Amino acid sequence: MAPTLSKRIQLVDLVSLHRRLKPELDAEIEKVIASASFINGAVVGELECALSKYLGIRFAVGCANGTDALQIALMALGIGRGDEVITTPFSFAATVEAIMLVGATPRYVDIDERTFNMNADLLEEAITPKTKAIMPVHLYGQAAEIDRITHIACEHGLDVIEDNAQSFGATYKGKKVGTFGRISTTSFFPAKNLGAFGDAGAMFTNDEELFWKLKMIAQHGAKIRYTHEYLGMNSRLDSIQAAVLKVKLNYLDEFNARRRAAADLYDKYLSDANVQTPYRDPNGMHIFHQYTILLSKTGERDELQKFLNAHGIPSSVHYPMPLHLQKAFVNEAYPKGALPIAESIAERVLSLPMHTELDEEQIAYIAEKIIEFVGSKS
Ligand SMILES: *Cc1c(COP(=O)(O)O)cnc(C)c1O
Repeated sequence: MAPTLSKRIQLVDLVSLHRRLKPELDAEIEKVIASASFINGAVVGELECALSKYLGIRFAVGCANGTDALQIALMALGIGRGDEVITTPFSFAATVEAIMLVGATPRYVDIDERTFNMNADLLEEAITPKTKAIMPVHLYGQAAEIDRITHIACEHGLDVIEDNAQSFGATYKGKKVGTFGRISTTSFFPAKNLGAFGDAGAMFTNDEELFWKLKMIAQHGAKIRYTHEYLGMNSRLDSIQAAVLKVKLNYLDEFNARRRAAADLYDKYLSDANVQTPYRDPNGMHIFHQYTILLSKTGERDELQKFLNAHGIPSSVHYPMPLHLQKAFVNEAYPKGALPIAESIAERVLSLPMHTELDEEQIAYIAEKIIEFVGSKS
């Protein structure tokens, strides 16, 4: 614990954020309780309208979480056994779980060394006659090269599903990510940039027919009660979560601006540190779901983490093992060494505290301790 700091440093600080918004949150939650309309309450529709307006897309469908959102998107496109979906090996497990849960096979494209997103240069060689869709992830709050990805997809007649769980509000060439693909999905897991008070997620599309399919699959495949047109699931967005999200959505741009300001300060205080600070693609606006540094040496991360922890600085690793090397998703087409960039990056990344409540004193202190451990460039 750092004796000089006025506030304990947290990896994510939802307590302080929610304290600031408490009167509004309480009032909206109270309305749901008073109505007792906990499933499919009016607030769910209100939130869906507000979400689609925010993103600039015709349709939004709430669902239970970001993992379901990906699975429902694949189901709505009719993707299943015998099909292949191209994705990144450097993401949260949900991305590949969804592909495998519908019975499809993931194919991986290695990542870009600077953004850690899918490397669009390698995309075409991963396409086979079985490929049905490309599922890029906008990692850490920064867009993948989504215009090139959608262009390649279009030339090959493939669908694009954007996994936008980490970048809701980020832009690429002036346009919000999550509006480029045929479908995009997001997660409102509490620690995401827009977080609920539990699990929640959403799907987006401009295609009216797909909108109905997504909506129905999330509700047992039925539009009219007890008339099931599709094989569906129970993946509804709770009214209480919708009420929380409706309040927080009004502040999302402010939350993202605060994260960007914290990232600017990290960049400033770490400018001389012997680490690589996050690359910002000039084509996009990064909203810093994570502020992840890249260490120069393999093997120093665990020691740095311990050192920081001993000084009251929590940190986290997103992600320590690429998806193709995980036991649960083992894939003989991708043995160790098959995706060298992702494998090397996974050993050297470290995510620093990042949230809306960080102050300059804390960031300067974190940077000072990092430099104490890794040294400076000069
Ligand atoms: C968080 C996340 C998900 C899953 O979201 P849940 O709401 O936790 O199911 C999917 N993909 C990525 C990239 C994520 O970060």
